[in-house]
Amino acid sequence: MIDLLDNPTPAQLGRSPDEFLQKLENSTLIRVDGRDRSRTRALATLLHGNEPSGFLALHKWLLQQQTPAVNLVCFIGSVLAAKLAPGFSYRQLPGGRDFNRCFKQPFDGIEGQTAAALLDILHEAQPEALVDIHNTSGTGPSFAISVRNDGAHQALATLFTERLIITDLKLGALMEYSERDVPTVTIECGGAQDEHAHQTAYEGLLRFVNGERILQPEKADWGLEVLTNPVRIEIEAEASLAYELQPAVNADITLFPDIEHLNFGVVSPETQLGWVGPQGLDCFVAVDGRRRDIRHKLLRVEAGKLYPAQPFKAFMITTNPTIAKSDCLFYAVSPRGEPIA
Ligand SMILES: [Zn+2]
Repeated sequence: MIDLLDNPTPAQLGRSPDEFLQKLENSTLIRVDGRDRSRTRALATLLHGNEPSGFLALHKWLLQQQTPAVNLVCFIGSVLAAKLAPGFSYRQLPGGRDFNRCFKQPFDGIEGQTAAALLDILHEAQPEALVDIHNTSGTGPSFAISVRNDGAHQALATLFTERLIITDLKLGALMEYSERDVPTVTIECGGAQDEHAHQTAYEGLLRFVNGERILQPEKADWGLEVLTNPVRIEIEAEASLAYELQPAVNADITLFPDIEHLNFGVVSPETQLGWVGPQGLDCFVAVDGRRRDIRHKLLRVEAGKLYPAQPFKAFMITTNPTIAKSDCLFYAVSPRGEPIA
């Protein structure tokens, strides 16, 4: 289910990340001995085959043959999906499951069984921390996601980024399940094609593997922006969506093509987001933590134009209609980073 590679040599690693990927035949666990053999840290990469930043960073670091501060277990997830031509293009195998939704019962299919095997490995290894590195679907700045907000999780997040999203959504992601055993954060490095995202992953990885104490704050105020329990703004299953500079004919919702620029900024109620058709806000779904409909607290329509109903901070805004429909349009919190009330 999971191949094992102990202290890989440069010959085993290949000269390039692509060469290394071609050598792998399955999800793979890499173990590296540290200076302090009494402790272990865990790293997960490539849970999504089209999100290479963590894998590139890991390969670059492994090639240097450095000894980490403590033992490492590094998991490379969707190897087979990543290997499909033209490489790093498939989130999961065609017809397969999203690997980062498989960390819950029932552990069905090859992805579910691999997820269960990884959880067993983590339970056995008892790492002091786990970081799972991803890329966002669009461009945009990096951020961390965690199910808990305490000093350890904040310290882990700041190894990589300046923003931490706290969520109690339960989707079956690695960070939810592993949290039982070990402080875990997901890192979204930015876009998969973005050189800056690869750099974010690499610099964070260096701090993660080299730091002696990574679960304690380096300094009292590190300027971490914490965003708690964001609301998901989703689209109704039947509604159609377009990204254009004018109201699209036959689309229930038209958003501006450059709407990603609003990522992590505070959006004022005067900022037009786009247009809606005759159905107005019925095209959207937005509920709070108690499943109450809060569409009208978030959005308003004026003469067919779509605006925020109150100032909010929006993030993970997508301009990919497929993702917008299958996942969500964007997330929102109050300007202070608190749940929308
Ligand atoms: Zn991902």
